[in-house]
Amino acid sequence: MNRLDELKKTLVDAAKQAERTDLCKHKSGNFSVFDPESQVVIVTPSGVARSELCEDQLCVLNLDAQVLAWNGLNKPSSEVLMHIAIYKKRPDIGAIVHTHSRYATAFAILNKPIPPILYESFVLGQSPKIPVAPYARPGTSALARSVSSTLQDADCCLLESHGAIALGANMEEALLRANYIEELSELYYLTLSINQGREPKTLAQEELQKWAYPTDIKFPEDDCYN
Ligand code: 13P
Ligand code: ZN
Repeated sequence: MNRLDELKKTLVDAAKQAERTDLCKHKSGNFSVFDPESQVVIVTPSGVARSELCEDQLCVLNLDAQVLAWNGLNKPSSEVLMHIAIYKKRPDIGAIVHTHSRYATAFAILNKPIPPILYESFVLGQSPKIPVAPYARPGTSALARSVSSTLQDADCCLLESHGAIALGANMEEALLRANYIEELSELYYLTLSINQGREPKTLAQEELQKWAYPTDIKFPEDDCYN
């Protein structure tokens, strides 16, 4: 299998997994990967149920939003300008997951960032607080500008009145972050609910940065895995 075919398989597998775990529903959301060698973006098609999704429906574009390959039937995601704008601003990333996951979207509707309430917030990358990109209509260059500028110094954000987005060096990392956005949003909702709407305490940035695997765990001296 060549490199682009492998990326396509990763993309379809991730999209189907997101659907199975309820991260994406009813055709909402989209997924892409970037191949730095050929400088192309591979993106999911617009309006296709992920149960039906297959590799020959994926679309390949360059960073000028020129379609290089498609099946003539399934157009690239209507949010591909947003994906492209992010890859242009963030040459360090290789995959993007956009969802309308429920709890994250509820906070996006309220234009409310998710604060770092748990140590897992460090999984979110550059910014343990999940910011909100100001509203712009879905599918527009205005949305692409809003989201890509918010993601200049964050790897995850909410899209005001719309959904959530996660970046990763690869699809595995982007999908993990998309799952954590939803997990933290749900826990934030629960803690606000049981605390009569008062804000829960948050963890300081330096506390999150200090997390490390415990050094007191001792492994055998003659460990063959060493
Ligand atoms: P597409 O099906 O065009 O990718 O759109 C889904 C979506 O989430 C729009 O914001
Ligand atoms: Zn969307």
